[in-house]
Amino acid sequence: MTTVIPLPAPVLLPVAHSDQTFPVRRVYCVGRNYAAHAIEMGHDPSREPPFFFQKNPDNLVPQGAEFPYPPLSSDVHHEVELVVVLKKGCSAIDVSDALDCVYGYAVGIDFTRRDLQAQAKTAGKPWEAAKAFEHSAPVSTIVPAQVIGHPANGNIWLKVNNDLKQQGDLNQMIWKVPEIIAELSKLFRLDAGDVIMTGTPSGVGAVSRGDEVSCGIDGVATLTLTVI
Ligand code: MN
Repeated sequence: MTTVIPLPAPVLLPVAHSDQTFPVRRVYCVGRNYAAHAIEMGHDPSREPPFFFQKNPDNLVPQGAEFPYPPLSSDVHHEVELVVVLKKGCSAIDVSDALDCVYGYAVGIDFTRRDLQAQAKTAGKPWEAAKAFEHSAPVSTIVPAQVIGHPANGNIWLKVNNDLKQQGDLNQMIWKVPEIIAELSKLFRLDAGDVIMTGTPSGVGAVSRGDEVSCGIDGVATLTLTVI
């Protein structure tokens, strides 16, 4: 059997210190997972159930060296996040089993057309136009959990033109990685290849063409790109 159109290219994320890649199936993102960021966006940081949205697998940009400023927005924000990638999954995963599903970690940016997101929130409309656009998710190389373990704390930061804009600690996450996996698996059947962006600390802000953006998570990875 042949396909009637060419098969789409698989989305492959490089694995650090390796010639192997991690193939992507789905991309999930967690909203408002650091209290200080929930407050800066005008929300109550109490421990409500986490909520999720998605990006498209091909929105991921491996080691994205350039971020093309997207159309139809004049307020594109950076959100630095811990990225979790799964080597297996199923439905209804117990918190105590969740870390067994994790292949590794990365640092990534959940770029957001904040003006379109604000319009969508006001109108009760979906977020895809604000979140799931081309090149919206640059990601570092993947670091296997076999190498670094499962980071539950550590500095997470982002600089624009060498000015520190975002800084937090992974231990400030309202919902921790095992809880995120467990909650997500109540809603969706998770599987190998799934990528989860786990929310951003406070300090989100706009980028402009020409900006140099660098970010990292101590003990995990760093990522640098230029807004073009
Ligand atoms: Mn985010």
